[in-house]
Amino acid sequence: MPNATSPAPGRVVLDWRHAAIGPLAPCVLCGKPAICRSPAKGVPCHKGCAEAWITVRARDPEHRARLIAYCTPTGPGGAP
Ligand SMILES: [Zn+2]
Repeated sequence: MPNATSPAPGRVVLDWRHAAIGPLAPCVLCGKPAICRSPAKGVPCHKGCAEAWITVRARDPEHRARLIAYCTPTGPGGAP
């Protein structure tokens, strides 16, 4: 399966097809209601907010790749 994330600098795109969802709760980043849960911490968080967070936080391409991996959920059959 090809890597869905783009190596180009700029916009981060996360694959949250396997991300958990839950009842509406304030997003930890923007405070607006979200049903998505962060794969990294299980807290309410919009996918777009997480992508923007990574874009701002990443110091270099390697750090950015680590943050993307950290915030990408593993689907069924993935790592335990
Ligand atoms: Zn948000």
